[in-house]
Amino acid sequence: MTIQWYPGHMAKAQKQIKERLKAVDLILEIVDARVPESSINPMIAELGQNKPILLIMNKADMADAKRTQQWIETFKKRGITAIALDAQHKSKLPQIEKVAQEILADKLAKKRAKGILNPVIRAMCVGVPNVGKSTILNRLVQKNIAITGNKPGVTKNQQWLKAGQSLELLDTPGVLWPKFEDPAVGNKLALTGAISDAIYHADDVVVYALDYFKDFYPHQLEKEYHVTAAELELEVPDLIMALTKRLGFKEDYDRFCTKFITDARKGKLGRFTLDIIPVEAQA
Ligand code: GDP
Repeated sequence: MTIQWYPGHMAKAQKQIKERLKAVDLILEIVDARVPESSINPMIAELGQNKPILLIMNKADMADAKRTQQWIETFKKRGITAIALDAQHKSKLPQIEKVAQEILADKLAKKRAKGILNPVIRAMCVGVPNVGKSTILNRLVQKNIAITGNKPGVTKNQQWLKAGQSLELLDTPGVLWPKFEDPAVGNKLALTGAISDAIYHADDVVVYALDYFKDFYPHQLEKEYHVTAAELELEVPDLIMALTKRLGFKEDYDRFCTKFITDARKGKLGRFTLDIIPVEAQA
């Protein structure tokens, strides 16, 4: 589901999420591993009143594995614990609880010292649309039943769900707005499906994406669209014209652009990551 965000929506979401986050020990911020930096919400640290965050880079199965590892290191240098995940593979999910325990080790030790034998970690999934929040939540809680609703600090009719030995999750994920300001970020979010189809131009997204793929993933263009070495030298608009023709779409460039975006989202263009590792993190 993609949503269009207006200032009114954002203010409302901000207020609600801030309220709900008061009740948690840990924030599970879900991002798309293909755009780990661009799909971070700009205000999450503030909304969470500096509660610890575990950054979950989901859809790692569609991202460039080398870059995913580099991003994990980059976040680590920034003091953020990040893990890569593919929510469709159940075997990886227990990692969330394990790392949550590590992040909260001091707090849990204090609780144990007070005689609480099995301290619980309460967390909430948040993230921009379409990054896999519901998938992760549903898979973590499976058939586990609700524990209780109506706890102090939690809006009525919200419930905690058991999501592991010690992990409890709020039953609804928090939907955050994406970053808007930078057009390049908008193109990245559009290509990965985090922003609504109504608010970007397919041709802008494809011009951006082809330029990027030419630089970083030329073989994937060769494989899917039989782009030749000579075509890789073309300016992007000329390449779009050539590919539109090759696919039999005559001069229907919009049709090619729509197909390119669909192919990228479906993984037909191979694995890719659109956020480049910042220079300072490479040192
Ligand atoms: P939400 O809007 O953040 O709650 O996102 P959803 O949980 O609805 O997921 C959006 C889409 O991404 C769905 O079609 C999911 O099946 C798909 N999806 C979720 N997690 C993964 C993942 O790790 N890998 C892949 N390839 N697809 C995923």
